[in-house]
Amino acid sequence: MTVYLVGAGPGDADLLTLRGASLLARADVVVYDRLIDTSVLELAGPGAELIDVGKRAGHSSSQGLINDLLVALGHSHECVVRLKGGDSFLFGRGGEEFEALESVGVRCEVVPGVTSAFAAPAVAGIPVTHRGLSHGVTVVTGHTQDGDFVDFRGLANPDLTLVVLMGAARRGAIAGELIEGGLDVATPVAVVEKAYMPGQRVVRCVLGELAAVEVAAPAVLVIGAVAELSYSHLQSVVAASARSAP
Ligand code: SAH
Repeated sequence: MTVYLVGAGPGDADLLTLRGASLLARADVVVYDRLIDTSVLELAGPGAELIDVGKRAGHSSSQGLINDLLVALGHSHECVVRLKGGDSFLFGRGGEEFEALESVGVRCEVVPGVTSAFAAPAVAGIPVTHRGLSHGVTVVTGHTQDGDFVDFRGLANPDLTLVVLMGAARRGAIAGELIEGGLDVATPVAVVEKAYMPGQRVVRCVLGELAAVEVAAPAVLVIGAVAELSYSHLQSVVAASARSAP
């Protein structure tokens, strides 16, 4: 009677951990989100029940309902896999689900996943830190559910890389605040769309142009000197990416 919060990685099943794959193979039931690739779901055993609680416009299961569902399943099934995109503890609400389960005595275990915050820059050949260019990386959301936005002016630091998740829609405001905070308009930016998914695309620009760049979600914004780099040996992935020069 355990619910496993399994991070599915950013897209293709190749980036799921071996532990995640073996739990999927023996799961009685799998509860999954919208961004989960079918290649990951196919790793579930033939007898597993698959439940989609994906959040789409006009159709969403609220977090409270998901928590209740997980609790009920945790009481009635031996092995429940709760699959989340990327890593469950990075903007995945994994903590809330863990709390809801443990508070009623359902055992819960977290299986880390490869987060898009690092996988998306990586597929574009961008190291999020690089000696001489970036001493660290800040991962931040561009959008919160309560409408309470992060003040990007306070995050303007040319020595650090900024990785923004859920930032596509507010990219213009984010760029504006970073520039107000002191970042140069010529700061390199890479927008990595649909990393490890069909339609993967990398767009390169500078901060001053970000508002005007077309972006398809899901996308990660990589802002800082490293965004100019492109170290990738995955030729087919790079070739599949459309890259628009600044
Ligand atoms: N827990 C997830 C993040 C969930 S928030 C993780 O660790 O990756 C959802 C946001 O993640 C999206 O808005 C987007 O910014 C980013 N994202 C998730 N999958 C992505 C992908 N395959 N390519 C690019 N961005 C992705």
